[in-house]
Amino acid sequence: MNEGLLDLRTSASSFLFLKPHENIFIGISKKTIFHPWITILMPFSKQKLMEFPRDVVVGHGVLDDINELCRRVNLEGKCIVVHDENTKKIAGERAITSLGRDYEVDEIIVEKATMKEVGRVQRLAKKEGVNFVVAVGGGTVIDIAKLSSYKNGVPFISVPTAASHDGIASPRASIKMNGVSVSKEARSPLAILADTAIISKAPYRMLASGCADVISNLTAILDWELASRLKGEYYSSFAAALAKTAAELLINNAKFIKPGIEEGVWIAVKSMIVSGVAMSVANSSRPASGAEHMFSHALDRIAPGKAMHGEQCGIGAIMMMYLHGGNWERIKNALKEIGAPTTAKELGFTKKEIIQALTMAHEIRRERYTILGTDGITKDAAEKLAKITGVI
Ligand SMILES: [Zn+2]
Repeated sequence: MNEGLLDLRTSASSFLFLKPHENIFIGISKKTIFHPWITILMPFSKQKLMEFPRDVVVGHGVLDDINELCRRVNLEGKCIVVHDENTKKIAGERAITSLGRDYEVDEIIVEKATMKEVGRVQRLAKKEGVNFVVAVGGGTVIDIAKLSSYKNGVPFISVPTAASHDGIASPRASIKMNGVSVSKEARSPLAILADTAIISKAPYRMLASGCADVISNLTAILDWELASRLKGEYYSSFAAALAKTAAELLINNAKFIKPGIEEGVWIAVKSMIVSGVAMSVANSSRPASGAEHMFSHALDRIAPGKAMHGEQCGIGAIMMMYLHGGNWERIKNALKEIGAPTTAKELGFTKKEIIQALTMAHEIRRERYTILGTDGITKDAAEKLAKITGVI
Protein backbone atom coordinates (compact mmCIF):
# COMPACT_ATOMS: atom_id res chain seq x y z
CA MET A 1 0.00 0.00 0.00
CA ASN A 2 1.24 3.45 -0.74
CA GLU A 3 0.75 4.52 2.81
CA GLY A 4 3.08 1.78 3.99
CA LEU A 5 5.85 4.05 2.75
CA LEU A 6 4.74 6.95 4.85
CA ASP A 7 6.52 6.12 8.10
CA LEU A 8 9.75 5.19 6.40
CA ARG A 9 9.83 8.29 4.28
CA THR A 10 8.89 10.77 6.97
CA SER A 11 11.54 9.31 9.24
CA ALA A 12 14.04 9.59 6.37
CA SER A 13 13.85 13.31 5.92
CA SER A 14 16.81 13.40 3.56
CA PHE A 15 18.29 10.37 1.76
CA LEU A 16 18.30 6.84 2.97
CA PHE A 17 21.10 4.49 1.91
CA LEU A 18 20.71 0.75 2.20
CA LYS A 19 23.18 -2.01 1.31
CA PRO A 20 21.67 -4.85 -0.79
CA HIS A 21 21.37 -7.31 2.12
CA GLU A 22 19.68 -4.65 4.22
CA ASN A 23 17.23 -3.89 1.49
CA ILE A 24 14.07 -5.07 3.26
CA PHE A 25 11.84 -2.81 1.30
CA ILE A 26 8.12 -2.55 1.95
CA GLY A 27 6.97 -0.81 -1.18
CA ILE A 28 7.97 0.82 -4.42
CA SER A 29 7.53 4.51 -4.93
CA LYS A 30 7.94 6.37 -8.22
CA LYS A 31 10.69 8.32 -6.54
CA THR A 32 12.80 5.25 -5.77
CA ILE A 33 16.00 4.83 -7.76
CA PHE A 34 17.46 1.30 -7.98
CA HIS A 35 21.18 0.64 -8.24
CA PRO A 36 23.00 -2.73 -8.04
CA TRP A 37 24.56 -1.77 -4.69
CA ILE A 38 22.44 0.90 -3.16
CA THR A 39 18.85 1.99 -3.07
CA ILE A 40 18.28 5.69 -2.71
CA LEU A 41 14.97 6.80 -1.34
CA MET A 42 14.23 10.34 -2.45
CA PRO A 43 12.99 12.97 0.03
CA PHE A 44 9.32 12.89 0.86
CA SER A 45 7.36 15.08 -1.55
CA LYS A 46 3.80 13.80 -1.42
CA GLN A 47 1.03 16.41 -1.49
CA LYS A 48 -2.69 15.99 -1.15
CA LEU A 49 -5.74 18.13 -0.53
CA MET A 50 -8.46 16.89 1.82
CA GLU A 51 -11.46 19.06 2.43
CA PHE A 52 -14.01 18.22 5.10
CA PRO A 53 -17.26 19.76 6.28
CA ARG A 54 -16.46 22.05 9.21
CA ASP A 55 -19.66 21.73 11.20
CA VAL A 56 -22.11 18.83 11.09
CA VAL A 57 -25.38 19.15 12.99
CA VAL A 58 -27.67 16.10 13.08
CA GLY A 59 -30.78 15.95 15.25
CA HIS A 60 -34.44 16.53 15.89
CA GLY A 61 -35.69 20.02 14.99
CA VAL A 62 -32.28 21.53 14.24
CA LEU A 63 -33.51 23.27 11.05
CA ASP A 64 -34.78 26.33 12.87
CA ASP A 65 -31.23 27.06 14.08
CA ILE A 66 -29.62 27.12 10.64
CA ASN A 67 -28.81 30.82 11.06
CA GLU A 68 -26.71 29.97 14.13
CA LEU A 69 -24.85 27.27 12.22
CA CYS A 70 -24.03 29.74 9.44
CA ARG A 71 -22.81 32.31 11.96
CA ARG A 72 -20.65 29.67 13.66
CA VAL A 73 -18.83 28.93 10.40
CA ASN A 74 -18.29 32.69 9.95
CA LEU A 75 -20.58 33.22 6.98
CA GLU A 76 -21.60 36.78 6.27
CA GLY A 77 -23.68 38.79 3.82
CA LYS A 78 -26.17 37.37 1.37
CA CYS A 79 -27.24 33.80 0.69
CA ILE A 80 -29.43 31.95 -1.74
CA VAL A 81 -31.63 29.02 -0.75
CA VAL A 82 -31.87 26.39 -3.49
CA HIS A 83 -34.90 24.09 -3.20
CA ASP A 84 -37.62 22.48 -5.30
CA GLU A 85 -41.40 22.97 -5.12
CA ASN A 86 -41.78 20.16 -2.60
CA THR A 87 -38.76 20.75 -0.35
CA LYS A 88 -39.65 24.44 -0.18
CA LYS A 89 -42.83 23.50 1.68
CA ILE A 90 -41.17 20.80 3.80
CA ALA A 91 -38.15 22.79 4.97
CA GLY A 92 -37.13 25.61 2.60
CA GLU A 93 -39.56 28.19 3.98
CA ARG A 94 -38.46 27.49 7.55
CA ALA A 95 -34.81 27.76 6.53
CA ILE A 96 -35.51 31.14 4.89
CA THR A 97 -37.24 32.40 8.08
CA SER A 98 -34.31 31.32 10.24
CA LEU A 99 -31.64 32.66 7.86
CA GLY A 100 -33.59 35.93 7.52
CA ARG A 101 -32.71 36.74 11.15
CA ASP A 102 -29.06 37.24 10.21
CA TYR A 103 -28.79 37.35 6.45
CA GLU A 104 -30.27 38.78 3.30
CA VAL A 105 -31.88 35.76 1.62
CA ASP A 106 -32.70 34.99 -2.02
CA GLU A 107 -34.32 31.80 -3.22
CA ILE A 108 -34.52 29.73 -6.39
CA ILE A 109 -36.65 26.73 -7.25
CA VAL A 110 -34.91 24.05 -9.30
CA GLU A 111 -36.07 20.90 -11.09
CA LYS A 112 -33.75 18.34 -12.64
CA ALA A 113 -30.02 17.89 -11.92
CA THR A 114 -28.86 19.12 -15.33
CA MET A 115 -26.11 21.53 -16.38
CA LYS A 116 -28.86 23.93 -17.53
CA GLU A 117 -30.20 24.16 -13.98
CA VAL A 118 -26.67 24.46 -12.56
CA GLY A 119 -26.07 27.38 -14.94
CA ARG A 120 -29.36 29.05 -13.94
CA VAL A 121 -28.47 28.95 -10.21
CA GLN A 122 -24.92 30.06 -10.97
CA ARG A 123 -26.08 33.12 -12.96
CA LEU A 124 -28.65 34.24 -10.39
CA ALA A 125 -26.20 33.80 -7.50
CA LYS A 126 -23.59 35.84 -9.36
CA LYS A 127 -26.05 38.57 -10.37
CA GLU A 128 -27.29 38.92 -6.80
CA GLY A 129 -23.75 38.78 -5.39
CA VAL A 130 -24.49 35.97 -2.92
CA ASN A 131 -21.78 34.96 -0.46
CA PHE A 132 -22.98 31.40 0.13
CA VAL A 133 -25.50 28.82 -1.11
CA VAL A 134 -27.87 26.79 1.07
CA ALA A 135 -29.21 23.59 -0.51
CA VAL A 136 -32.49 22.41 1.01
CA GLY A 137 -33.61 19.18 -0.59
CA GLY A 138 -32.82 15.69 -1.76
CA GLY A 139 -30.00 14.52 -4.03
CA THR A 140 -31.03 16.63 -7.04
CA VAL A 141 -31.13 19.94 -5.18
CA ILE A 142 -27.89 19.20 -3.32
CA ASP A 143 -26.08 18.24 -6.53
CA ILE A 144 -27.20 21.42 -8.34
CA ALA A 145 -26.22 23.66 -5.40
CA LYS A 146 -22.93 21.83 -4.88
CA LEU A 147 -21.81 22.27 -8.46
CA SER A 148 -23.08 25.83 -8.99
CA SER A 149 -21.45 27.08 -5.76
CA TYR A 150 -18.20 25.33 -6.72
CA LYS A 151 -18.26 27.05 -10.10
CA ASN A 152 -18.97 30.43 -8.47
CA GLY A 153 -16.25 29.87 -5.86
CA VAL A 154 -18.56 30.32 -2.85
CA PRO A 155 -19.25 27.89 0.02
CA PHE A 156 -22.42 25.85 0.30
CA ILE A 157 -24.40 24.42 3.20
CA SER A 158 -26.10 21.05 2.75
CA VAL A 159 -29.56 20.64 4.31
CA PRO A 160 -30.84 17.21 3.22
CA THR A 161 -34.60 16.63 3.44
CA ALA A 162 -34.13 12.99 2.48
CA ALA A 163 -31.16 10.65 2.73
CA SER A 164 -31.25 8.53 -0.40
CA HIS A 165 -27.51 8.35 -1.16
CA ASP A 166 -24.12 9.27 0.25
CA GLY A 167 -23.81 12.51 -1.75
CA ILE A 168 -24.87 14.56 1.31
CA ALA A 169 -21.27 15.15 2.32
CA SER A 170 -19.22 14.08 -0.68
CA PRO A 171 -17.13 16.40 -2.87
CA ARG A 172 -18.75 15.01 -6.06
CA ALA A 173 -21.94 16.08 -7.82
CA SER A 174 -24.00 13.73 -9.96
CA ILE A 175 -25.38 15.60 -12.98
CA LYS A 176 -27.37 14.30 -15.94
CA MET A 177 -25.71 14.84 -19.32
CA ASN A 178 -27.44 13.49 -22.44
CA GLY A 179 -29.64 11.37 -20.21
CA VAL A 180 -26.70 9.73 -18.41
CA SER A 181 -25.58 10.55 -14.83
CA VAL A 182 -22.05 11.91 -14.71
CA SER A 183 -20.01 12.40 -11.52
CA LYS A 184 -18.53 15.92 -11.53
CA GLU A 185 -15.82 17.40 -9.39
CA ALA A 186 -17.12 19.91 -6.84
CA ARG A 187 -16.43 20.80 -3.20
CA SER A 188 -17.58 19.27 0.07
CA PRO A 189 -20.18 21.32 1.92
CA LEU A 190 -18.80 23.82 4.43
CA ALA A 191 -21.43 22.55 6.89
CA ILE A 192 -24.21 19.99 7.00
CA LEU A 193 -27.50 20.30 8.85
CA ALA A 194 -29.60 17.15 8.91
CA ASP A 195 -32.92 17.44 10.73
CA THR A 196 -33.97 13.87 11.59
CA ALA A 197 -37.60 14.97 12.13
CA ILE A 198 -37.79 16.14 8.50
CA ILE A 199 -35.83 13.22 7.01
CA SER A 200 -37.99 10.67 8.87
CA LYS A 201 -41.07 12.08 7.10
CA ALA A 202 -39.58 11.46 3.63
CA PRO A 203 -40.68 8.20 1.95
CA TYR A 204 -38.89 5.36 3.79
CA ARG A 205 -37.80 3.85 0.48
CA MET A 206 -35.35 6.74 0.07
CA LEU A 207 -33.66 6.09 3.42
CA ALA A 208 -33.41 2.34 2.73
CA SER A 209 -31.83 3.15 -0.63
CA GLY A 210 -29.30 5.50 1.01
CA CYS A 211 -28.36 2.75 3.48
CA ALA A 212 -27.88 0.25 0.64
CA ASP A 213 -25.60 2.79 -1.09
CA VAL A 214 -23.38 2.94 2.02
CA ILE A 215 -23.42 -0.85 2.58
CA SER A 216 -22.13 -1.22 -0.98
CA ASN A 217 -18.88 0.44 0.23
CA LEU A 218 -17.82 -3.06 1.31
CA THR A 219 -17.33 -4.25 -2.27
CA ALA A 220 -16.05 -0.86 -3.45
CA ILE A 221 -13.19 -1.14 -0.94
CA LEU A 222 -12.31 -4.68 -2.07
CA ASP A 223 -12.20 -3.46 -5.68
CA TRP A 224 -9.96 -0.59 -4.63
CA GLU A 225 -7.57 -2.95 -2.82
CA LEU A 226 -7.50 -5.17 -5.90
CA ALA A 227 -6.71 -2.21 -8.17
CA SER A 228 -3.98 -1.16 -5.78
CA ARG A 229 -2.39 -4.62 -5.83
CA LEU A 230 -2.81 -5.32 -9.54
CA LYS A 231 -2.49 -1.88 -11.08
CA GLY A 232 -0.52 0.05 -8.46
CA GLU A 233 -3.40 2.45 -8.06
CA TYR A 234 -3.23 5.01 -5.23
CA TYR A 235 -4.91 3.57 -2.13
CA SER A 236 -5.64 5.22 1.20
CA SER A 237 -6.11 2.83 4.10
CA PHE A 238 -7.58 5.73 6.10
CA ALA A 239 -10.28 6.44 3.49
CA ALA A 240 -11.00 2.71 3.15
CA ALA A 241 -11.31 2.31 6.94
CA LEU A 242 -13.79 5.20 7.11
CA ALA A 243 -15.89 3.82 4.24
CA LYS A 244 -15.89 0.40 5.89
CA THR A 245 -16.84 1.85 9.30
CA ALA A 246 -19.85 3.59 7.71
CA ALA A 247 -21.05 0.30 6.15
CA GLU A 248 -20.43 -1.73 9.32
CA LEU A 249 -22.33 0.83 11.40
CA LEU A 250 -25.41 0.20 9.26
CA ILE A 251 -25.07 -3.58 9.16
CA ASN A 252 -24.65 -3.77 12.93
CA ASN A 253 -27.63 -1.48 13.53
CA ALA A 254 -29.87 -2.74 10.72
CA LYS A 255 -32.62 -3.69 13.19
CA PHE A 256 -33.10 -0.03 14.13
CA ILE A 257 -33.49 1.14 10.57
CA LYS A 258 -37.22 0.82 10.05
CA PRO A 259 -40.02 3.10 8.86
CA GLY A 260 -41.06 5.65 11.47
CA ILE A 261 -38.03 5.18 13.76
CA GLU A 262 -36.23 8.52 13.95
CA GLU A 263 -33.20 6.94 15.61
CA GLY A 264 -32.74 4.86 12.46
CA VAL A 265 -32.54 8.11 10.47
CA TRP A 266 -29.89 9.34 12.91
CA ILE A 267 -27.72 6.23 12.34
CA ALA A 268 -28.28 6.25 8.57
CA VAL A 269 -27.44 9.94 8.14
CA LYS A 270 -24.30 9.64 10.25
CA SER A 271 -23.11 6.71 8.13
CA MET A 272 -23.80 8.63 4.90
CA ILE A 273 -21.77 11.57 6.19
CA VAL A 274 -18.85 9.31 7.19
CA SER A 275 -19.00 7.75 3.73
CA GLY A 276 -18.85 11.23 2.18
CA VAL A 277 -15.86 12.09 4.36
CA ALA A 278 -14.14 8.88 3.16
CA MET A 279 -14.48 10.23 -0.39
CA SER A 280 -13.05 13.57 0.75
CA VAL A 281 -10.01 11.78 2.21
CA ALA A 282 -9.49 9.81 -1.01
CA ASN A 283 -10.33 12.86 -3.11
CA SER A 284 -12.37 10.52 -5.30
CA SER A 285 -15.42 8.29 -5.08
CA ARG A 286 -13.18 5.17 -5.01
CA PRO A 287 -13.92 4.13 -1.38
CA ALA A 288 -17.65 4.17 -2.11
CA SER A 289 -17.90 3.16 -5.74
CA GLY A 290 -16.68 -0.04 -7.39
CA ALA A 291 -18.15 -2.76 -9.63
CA GLU A 292 -21.50 -2.64 -7.79
CA HIS A 293 -21.83 1.01 -8.85
CA MET A 294 -20.87 0.16 -12.42
CA PHE A 295 -23.62 -2.50 -12.38
CA SER A 296 -26.04 0.20 -11.14
CA HIS A 297 -24.98 2.59 -13.90
CA ALA A 298 -25.46 -0.22 -16.44
CA LEU A 299 -29.04 -0.66 -15.17
CA ASP A 300 -29.52 3.12 -15.55
CA ARG A 301 -28.60 2.77 -19.21
CA ILE A 302 -30.87 -0.23 -19.76
CA ALA A 303 -33.92 1.24 -18.02
CA PRO A 304 -33.36 4.74 -16.61
CA GLY A 305 -35.35 5.72 -13.55
CA LYS A 306 -36.79 2.27 -12.85
CA ALA A 307 -35.17 1.89 -9.42
CA MET A 308 -33.17 4.09 -7.06
CA HIS A 309 -29.39 4.41 -7.20
CA GLY A 310 -28.73 2.91 -3.75
CA GLU A 311 -31.18 0.05 -4.30
CA GLN A 312 -29.34 -0.98 -7.45
CA CYS A 313 -25.93 -0.65 -5.77
CA GLY A 314 -27.07 -2.82 -2.85
CA ILE A 315 -28.02 -5.67 -5.17
CA GLY A 316 -24.79 -5.12 -7.08
CA ALA A 317 -22.88 -5.42 -3.80
CA ILE A 318 -24.46 -8.81 -3.01
CA MET A 319 -23.25 -10.19 -6.36
CA MET A 320 -19.83 -8.51 -6.39
CA MET A 321 -19.15 -9.78 -2.84
CA TYR A 322 -19.84 -13.30 -4.14
CA LEU A 323 -17.25 -12.73 -6.89
CA HIS A 324 -14.75 -11.50 -4.28
CA GLY A 325 -15.35 -14.70 -2.29
CA GLY A 326 -16.63 -12.69 0.69
CA ASN A 327 -19.66 -12.95 2.94
CA TRP A 328 -22.40 -11.89 0.48
CA GLU A 329 -25.16 -13.39 2.66
CA ARG A 330 -24.32 -10.84 5.39
CA ILE A 331 -24.93 -7.98 2.93
CA LYS A 332 -28.14 -9.59 1.70
CA ASN A 333 -29.46 -10.14 5.23
CA ALA A 334 -28.72 -6.55 6.25
CA LEU A 335 -30.49 -5.19 3.16
CA LYS A 336 -33.49 -7.42 3.89
CA GLU A 337 -33.59 -6.26 7.51
CA ILE A 338 -33.51 -2.62 6.41
CA GLY A 339 -36.17 -3.25 3.78
CA ALA A 340 -34.06 -2.56 0.69
CA PRO A 341 -34.60 -4.81 -2.35
CA THR A 342 -32.46 -7.94 -2.73
CA THR A 343 -34.00 -9.46 -5.87
CA ALA A 344 -34.53 -8.42 -9.49
CA LYS A 345 -38.29 -8.67 -8.95
CA GLU A 346 -38.26 -6.31 -5.96
CA LEU A 347 -36.06 -3.94 -7.96
CA GLY A 348 -38.47 -4.04 -10.91
CA PHE A 349 -36.05 -5.50 -13.44
CA THR A 350 -36.32 -8.69 -15.51
CA LYS A 351 -33.79 -11.54 -15.25
CA LYS A 352 -32.60 -10.66 -18.74
CA GLU A 353 -31.94 -7.03 -17.78
CA ILE A 354 -29.93 -8.04 -14.70
CA ILE A 355 -27.77 -10.42 -16.78
CA GLN A 356 -27.30 -7.77 -19.46
CA ALA A 357 -26.23 -5.17 -16.85
CA LEU A 358 -23.72 -7.62 -15.35
CA THR A 359 -22.15 -8.33 -18.74
CA MET A 360 -21.83 -4.64 -19.67
CA ALA A 361 -20.83 -3.24 -16.23
CA HIS A 362 -17.05 -3.42 -16.89
CA GLU A 363 -17.46 -1.07 -19.88
CA ILE A 364 -19.02 1.73 -17.81
CA ARG A 365 -15.86 3.21 -16.36
CA ARG A 366 -12.87 1.60 -18.01
CA GLU A 367 -10.26 3.45 -15.95
CA ARG A 368 -11.72 2.09 -12.70
CA TYR A 369 -10.32 -1.42 -12.27
CA THR A 370 -12.61 -3.82 -10.36
CA ILE A 371 -13.28 -7.52 -9.78
CA LEU A 372 -14.89 -7.57 -13.26
CA GLY A 373 -11.45 -7.00 -14.81
CA THR A 374 -11.06 -5.60 -18.29
CA ASP A 375 -13.06 -8.30 -20.07
CA GLY A 376 -16.03 -8.43 -17.73
CA ILE A 377 -18.23 -11.42 -17.06
CA THR A 378 -19.72 -13.85 -19.61
CA LYS A 379 -23.46 -14.24 -20.02
CA ASP A 380 -23.38 -17.77 -18.56
CA ALA A 381 -21.31 -16.67 -15.56
CA ALA A 382 -23.59 -13.67 -15.01
CA GLU A 383 -26.66 -15.91 -14.99
CA LYS A 384 -25.00 -18.32 -12.57
CA LEU A 385 -23.93 -15.45 -10.30
CA ALA A 386 -27.39 -13.90 -10.18
CA LYS A 387 -29.00 -17.29 -9.54
CA ILE A 388 -26.61 -18.41 -6.77
CA THR A 389 -27.10 -15.14 -4.89
CA GLY A 390 -30.87 -15.35 -5.32
CA VAL A 391 -31.08 -12.08 -7.28
CA ILE A 392 -32.91 -13.85 -10.14
ZN1 LIG B 1 -23.50 5.62 -4.61
